[in-house]
Amino acid sequence: MINSAANLLLSLVYPEQCRICRREVHDRKDGVLCSECWKSAEVYTGLETKCEKCGLMLSTSESLYETYCRSCDDHAYDSARAVGTYRGGLAAIVLHLKTEPHVSPRVAKLLDLVFRDNYQASTTLFVPVPLSGKRFKERGFNQAAVIARSMSKTTSIPVDENSLVRTRHTPMHRAAMDKKAREKSVEDAFEVRRPKLIDGQHITLVDDIFTSGATAHYCAAKLKESGAATVNVLTIAHAAIRLK
Ligand SMILES: [Zn+2]
Ligand SMILES: [Zn+2]
Repeated sequence: MINSAANLLLSLVYPEQCRICRREVHDRKDGVLCSECWKSAEVYTGLETKCEKCGLMLSTSESLYETYCRSCDDHAYDSARAVGTYRGGLAAIVLHLKTEPHVSPRVAKLLDLVFRDNYQASTTLFVPVPLSGKRFKERGFNQAAVIARSMSKTTSIPVDENSLVRTRHTPMHRAAMDKKAREKSVEDAFEVRRPKLIDGQHITLVDDIFTSGATAHYCAAKLKESGAATVNVLTIAHAAIRLK
């Protein structure tokens, strides 16, 4: 935590260096990307064809029909949306957020646009995907909670960081694990400690990245067991392809 606070202070005193091209970032609102690298960040335009449920991009061109990837059919969340694809600029932003608890104004604005278009009218509560106690100790903060707080500040919708907890540590995104093994490692890792606070709520579950959807699925399943009326998922980035 001391390290993160010191880093934040340093970034306020010294100009930010672009995480991709290393040039100076001239506009502080741009966060950790320069204006040139922002141009190449794969932010969704809304014209792509994406899975109606999980938001996976299926084609860069528009479709007249509702399309589903079908691999998310049994996932417990209602739908998931992201700012863009986890590659290049947005990947750099997500990785940086794991080291410094700060959402830049530009990222906050993009998240807000996606949220307003999809979930704002129905959301009563933000819930960040929790970290395990071990991971929280290592990092000093939960990046999903940092995003959720930023969303709450913009919208005045409350955040509940305490009701959904991760009861055991699971290896994250281990490359050697197949889809089944990865899902099993996440299963039952989550628990709702205060179901009364979740009952009847329309929840936007917040995380930095949506990969296989397993984490979002198990969190949503637990939240719905506790009476959540709806659970939608908002992340900065969505993996470009569904990891098998
Ligand atoms: Zn750059
Ligand atoms: Zn899908």
